[in-house]
Amino acid sequence: MGLFDRIKRAFGGKSETEDTEKYDAALEKSRSSFGDKLNALFANFRTVDEDFFDDLEDTLIGADVGFETAVKITDELREEVKLRNAKDSNAVARVIVQKLVDLYGDEGQDEDNSLHFAESGPTVFLFVGVNGAGKTTTIGKLAKRLHDQGKSVLLAAADTFRAGAIQQLQVWGERDDVPVVAGPEGGDPAAVVFDAVVRAKKENADVLLVDTAGRLQNKVNLMKELGKIERVIKRELPDEPSEVLLVVDATTGQNALNQAKEFNQTTKMTGLVLTKLDGSGKGGIVLAVRNELHVPVKLVGLGEKVDDLADFEPTKFVYGLFKGLIDEPAGAKDEADPAAVAAATENNEDSEEHEEDK
Ligand code: GDP
Ligand code: MG
Repeated sequence: MGLFDRIKRAFGGKSETEDTEKYDAALEKSRSSFGDKLNALFANFRTVDEDFFDDLEDTLIGADVGFETAVKITDELREEVKLRNAKDSNAVARVIVQKLVDLYGDEGQDEDNSLHFAESGPTVFLFVGVNGAGKTTTIGKLAKRLHDQGKSVLLAAADTFRAGAIQQLQVWGERDDVPVVAGPEGGDPAAVVFDAVVRAKKENADVLLVDTAGRLQNKVNLMKELGKIERVIKRELPDEPSEVLLVVDATTGQNALNQAKEFNQTTKMTGLVLTKLDGSGKGGIVLAVRNELHVPVKLVGLGEKVDDLADFEPTKFVYGLFKGLIDEPAGAKDEADPAAVAAATENNEDSEEHEEDK
């Protein structure tokens, strides 16, 4: 069973959990921009020919699924549409959405989206990424979550380069009731990390979250500094950091993908944090990250508030992105799969009922 069917089975007719609702709300912009683009494509639909596939490829690129992914999907769709003999626009729409969803599922099948913690001793998470991506905010949110779980948390303010960065983390620390290790502005970031690791060991802290600079005098310096920070951590705690998380801003679309590719060349990342999904119409970037980078997305930022952080769950995400297109009985004329059409129609009615219940 492909991801498309699994999603329908998982969400069809069930009332939505609070978490799903959050995903849903945050993905609204992406969903409508994706949906609008596909709908515009179908409005001009005459026949399934080469022009149509060219337009489809452009549409997918415009929806930020990434160039490679767009070409791959279009190629596969050519075959699929032929195979299923889909002729009218509803049938073709259904094949396209199913393909997009299943593609994520196939690629993401054995993806590990969970955060990893040390079996014993302090766990260290290192946060990297360009200025403004949302590193400090994500650390603030995650610290609160871990603290609420009863873990002892420590923060390291190793962004000593950007004015106000240390104070910004200290404000989060106060809000979360979590201590922050800091040094002077303009000081040596690796020295701050060293102090923090020593303190984490001494106090037997559960988790140390390390904030870093998004920019130094130049890119080479930044990469060198991150390397140095990692070595300092390893010297004290050889199995750490458990996670090196690259934070990227989803609103920047293709740029976020390029940043990730760049960081990936020098820093070994274990996962991605995709922030500002709530403000982004570019949620399609997740498909690009999945297909072109092969680094799992682990957390998503769904807003600026402390509890606007969620674990990345591919099925929820993909459902949020394509919801309207999955639920819509667009396949009503797709005679190849009458059961699925019936299920889709049923689910649609169910979810409307739930809307009224609230
Ligand atoms: P840093 O330079 O990487 O540390 O980025 P910051 O954590 O300072 O965040 C930059 C801006 O993005 C701040 O105004 C944050 O409030 C905002 N921000 C971070 N994450 C999110 C998110 O998930 N959604 C929204 N809407 N804003 C966010
Ligand atoms: Mg910061």
